[in-house]
Amino acid sequence: MDELLQDAADRAAQYLRNLPERRVAPSDADVAQLAELGGDLPSGPMPDVEILALLDRVGSPATMASAGPRYFGFVTGGALPVTVATNVLAGAWDQNAFSPVASPVGAELERISLGWLVDILELPPESYGALVTGSQQANFCGLAAARHAVLTRSGWDVEERGLNSAPSVRIVAGAEAHATLVRAVSLLGFGRGTIELVEVDDQGRMRADALPPLDDRTVLCIQAGNVNSGAFDPAESLCAAARKANAWVHVDGAFGLWARTAPGRAHLAAGFELADSWAVDAHKWLNTPYDTGVVLLRQPEHLAAAMSLSAAYIPPAGRAPIDYTPEASRRARGIATWAALRSLGRSGVADMVERCCALAARFGARLHDGGYEVLNDVVLNQVLVAFGDDETTSRVIQAVQDDGTCWCGGTEWHGRPAMRISVSSWASTAADIDRSAEAIMRVASAAHRKGPTGRAGN
Ligand SMILES: *Cc1c(COP(=O)(O)O)cnc(C)c1O
Repeated sequence: MDELLQDAADRAAQYLRNLPERRVAPSDADVAQLAELGGDLPSGPMPDVEILALLDRVGSPATMASAGPRYFGFVTGGALPVTVATNVLAGAWDQNAFSPVASPVGAELERISLGWLVDILELPPESYGALVTGSQQANFCGLAAARHAVLTRSGWDVEERGLNSAPSVRIVAGAEAHATLVRAVSLLGFGRGTIELVEVDDQGRMRADALPPLDDRTVLCIQAGNVNSGAFDPAESLCAAARKANAWVHVDGAFGLWARTAPGRAHLAAGFELADSWAVDAHKWLNTPYDTGVVLLRQPEHLAAAMSLSAAYIPPAGRAPIDYTPEASRRARGIATWAALRSLGRSGVADMVERCCALAARFGARLHDGGYEVLNDVVLNQVLVAFGDDETTSRVIQAVQDDGTCWCGGTEWHGRPAMRISVSSWASTAADIDRSAEAIMRVASAAHRKGPTGRAGN
């Protein structure tokens, strides 16, 4: 075991050392090599050291260098070094964190982490919840709690009686609601086609003046951080309207809620503390390893009621994670979350958020100065760029990914293709931004020279 773990640690360290200078996306040849890992299941065993060597030889080159400093795809935080290291120890612990009965340390680190998260995100101090796989699951949990609370007010026990004959519940969300929010609505049996979509402005913010009348059977879903533009819904006025109507407010704040931790950005996310439930990711801006999202509830008893289960062999154990999630057996996500928060402290989190925002602004300015069109107000860590007509923009995105200096994804913004840049990692530096911007502009000007059919001078 000692040799095996040493070998794994050596290979992991070597991988991370190479990461800043290798291609960000693997080459097609490296991906094709993965075939070596398949074939028929061998009839007999293979020695552990060989397993590790094979994975490293074939698997490592076929990774996306998303843990490195020039990956700007989706919204992706690189794992902080301390969390990579604690994951090694946590792997050895192999804890089942469904309950303190099964893992005292797993459950306690989750409880401590949730308290620190409530504190650093400046949410109501009585808030509590759980660590789940991501904001997809956190949106699901928040809305499940909302469903329970809103139907309980109507005298309906939804966990017992289901939705078939239940009083109707209204779901109101911005037209730019995240796809995972919409999926959570459908998983909870409301039907995504029933969502009352509220008009948004040019940055994707819900227009408070377009809000329909709310009532006490409404769940209003608002967003902290539009997944494209990084813009925030006007929480203060939306929450005030909801409070007046006794409606529930759920916040999808997967990355944007972290703005609350940085003094220079907190004003963007003002008012979100007035909501009833929040979804936020640790694997995005806190830079913990996958997979860790957080659901928090002002009144956690609604989540516990929505998730309740009982079995003779599961002893009650206070606030056990199994009572606050749809999960039973589960990883101890509290270990890396605790480690990230304990190592950064309040100021470290704020600095990381602020640094990413400043780097995003730098990225946007470089591309703007290079003559390209920045499509959003760069208020947070997200930048949207067009490189001319739609066809050229799409070609540039593909060419940037092929070039390998950095990796940026594509999206659609106001009906146009756009390159989407998200600066979310502790590892990215100003030099990485400049090097990436230069590579993008080199690729873009080549694309302009070549034109759509590869002819010069279009
Ligand atoms: C990333 C994201 C989600 C989904 O989160 P996962 O961690 O992928 O489950 C939901 N909403 C927003 C705004 C996001 O950015």
